[in-house]
Amino acid sequence: MKRLSRRGFIIQSGVMATAITLPLALNPLLTKMEMTRIRQFDVIITGGSYSGLAAALALGRALRTVLIIDNGNPCNRQTPYSHNFITQDGKPPHVITASAKRQVKEYKTVEFHNDSVITGNKNEGGFEVHTRSGRKFSAKKLIFATGIKDIMPGIPGFAQSWGISVLHCPYCHGYEVRDQITGVLGNGNFGYEFAALISNWTKDLALYTNGKSALSAQQTKKLHQHNIPIIEDEIENLEHESGYLKKINFKNGITREIRALYTRPDFVQHCSVPEMIGCVMTEEGYIKVDSAQRTSIPGVFACGDNTTKLRTVANAVAMGTTAGLIVNKELIEEEF
Ligand SMILES: Cc1cc2nc3c(=O)[nH]c(=O)nc-3n(C[C@H](O)[C@H](O)[C@H](O)COP(=O)(O)OP(=O)(O)OC[C@H]3O[C@@H](n4cnc5c(N)ncnc54)[C@H](O)[C@@H]3O)c2cc1C
Repeated sequence: MKRLSRRGFIIQSGVMATAITLPLALNPLLTKMEMTRIRQFDVIITGGSYSGLAAALALGRALRTVLIIDNGNPCNRQTPYSHNFITQDGKPPHVITASAKRQVKEYKTVEFHNDSVITGNKNEGGFEVHTRSGRKFSAKKLIFATGIKDIMPGIPGFAQSWGISVLHCPYCHGYEVRDQITGVLGNGNFGYEFAALISNWTKDLALYTNGKSALSAQQTKKLHQHNIPIIEDEIENLEHESGYLKKINFKNGITREIRALYTRPDFVQHCSVPEMIGCVMTEEGYIKVDSAQRTSIPGVFACGDNTTKLRTVANAVAMGTTAGLIVNKELIEEEF
C-alpha cells in the first residue's frame, strides 16, 4: 500500500473535514433559503379536517396542485365516537380523518404541511399565506376550512365532559343517550327551542337556565305541559367520571342526577385570517359565503363549520366538495 506523505495526509484530512462539516454549515442556510422561497400552488387549503380534505379530494382528482396547511386541532377531537355520517357511523373522529387523509394522499399533486396560517394577502398571481414557522406559500385560490373554536364556560367539569356527555347536537349523540336523565343548559328562546328539540330523545328532561329564567309565560307553560321543569338555580359544577356526567351541583347546595347535558357554547373563528384579509362576516360570526362557498373576496372560498351553524361532518364534507368543484371550475374558466 502506498504510504501517505505528511503533506498529503494534511491535505486529505482537510478535504475530509470539509466534506463532513460543509453540509452542516450549509444546513441553516438551506433551511433559510427554503423558508424564503415562495412555493406556488393552484390552491392552498387552510384546515385539513373533514371539509378541507373533501375539497382537496375534488381538487386532487382535477389534477390541481394543492397545499393543505393544518395544525391538527379539529373541534370534535374530544368526542369518543362520531355519528350520523353515512359509512362512518360510530367511528372515532380521528379514524375518519386518518382514512380520509390516506385517500387524499393517493393524489400526487396534493401536499400536506403541518403548520398554522397566521396571515395572508393578495399578490400578483393570486394570494400569499404566511405560517407560524415562517414559511410563505402562494396560490391562485384560497380555501379556508378552518372550523370554529368553542369557548368553554367557566363551569368546572364542563370542558372535561365536552363532546362526551356535554353535547352540542342530538343528531350526533342523542341516540346514545336516549331516555337518560338529560338537561338542556340555556335560557330564553334558545333554551326553550333546544328543550323542545331534545324532548324527542328523552322524557326525563329539565331546562337549566343557570340564573333567572328569561322564558316567556307561554314558553314556561308549554314546557310545564311537557313535564320539563325549569331550574333557575346557579350551577356550581358538573360532577363526572372521565367526562361522563354524574351530578349537577348548584351553588345553593342542591344536587341533581344527570347523564347528558346539551348546550351551545359561544364560539370564535378558529382562524382570523379570512376576516383579516377582508372577508365579510355574518352577524352571528360566520364567514359569509354564497351557495358555491365563495366569500366576498373573489378567489377566496370558505367551507365547513366556519360558515354555518349546521354543524355536522356530513355537511362539512358536502361544503368542502362544493368548494373544490367550484374552485376548479373558476380556474378552468380563467385558463381556457
Ligand atoms: C364535541 C363535538 C362533537 C361532535 N360530534 C359530531 C358527530 O358525532 N357527528 C357529526 O356529524 N358531527 C359532529 N360534530 C361536528 C363536526 O365535528 C364538525 O361539523 C366538523 O368537524 C367540521 O369540520 P371542519 O373541517 O369544518 O372543521 P374542523 O373539523 O373543526 O377542522 C378545522 C381544521 O382547521 C385547522 N385550522 C384552524 N385554523 C388553522 C390555521 N390558522 N392554520 C392551520 N390549520 C388551522 C384545525 O386545526 C382543524 O384541523 C361534533 C362537534 C363537536 C364540537
